[in-house]
Amino acid sequence: MKQGIPKTIKLFKFASRGGIFSHQYQVRDFPRISTIASNHNSKVSVTISFSLEGEIPCITGEVEIDLELDCQRCLDVVKLHLEPKFKLAFLKNEEQGETLDASFETILNADEEFSTIEFITDEVLISVPMAPLHEHKCLSYQDTQPINEQKKENPFAILKQLKKKE
Ligand SMILES: [Zn+2]
Repeated sequence: MKQGIPKTIKLFKFASRGGIFSHQYQVRDFPRISTIASNHNSKVSVTISFSLEGEIPCITGEVEIDLELDCQRCLDVVKLHLEPKFKLAFLKNEEQGETLDASFETILNADEEFSTIEFITDEVLISVPMAPLHEHKCLSYQDTQPINEQKKENPFAILKQLKKKE
């Protein structure tokens, strides 16, 4: 049975119970995501499930999130739909991971308790492009004119520089 996600993840405790948690957040619930996205009211669906692989606590999860970010080319809004999925195993030491299924991403030295919001934020931010851009060439038209003007001006600028050197 799915239940709401507690604010604090208690890793080994949840993993040994094998709980599945699901919750619909808003972008505003994630402070670090809110600083880069402008759509603070958009819904964020999160489902995470806990399991033990032998002695190793694992978290499998998926997030669905729409983000409105600043295009790094034209600074206008660029809309992204992201569905990060993750399958993480929390190891006490590297040897512990040797028997683990290779489909798990491993994390060392995990605390027993950590913030659910911060954990989900990290998984979302990994999937956000460093420099979000529109798929179309949003600035190509505006780009052409200044470049043409520059080309016209350039020969004179070079002449001026040459004269200064003489
Ligand atoms: Zn753009």
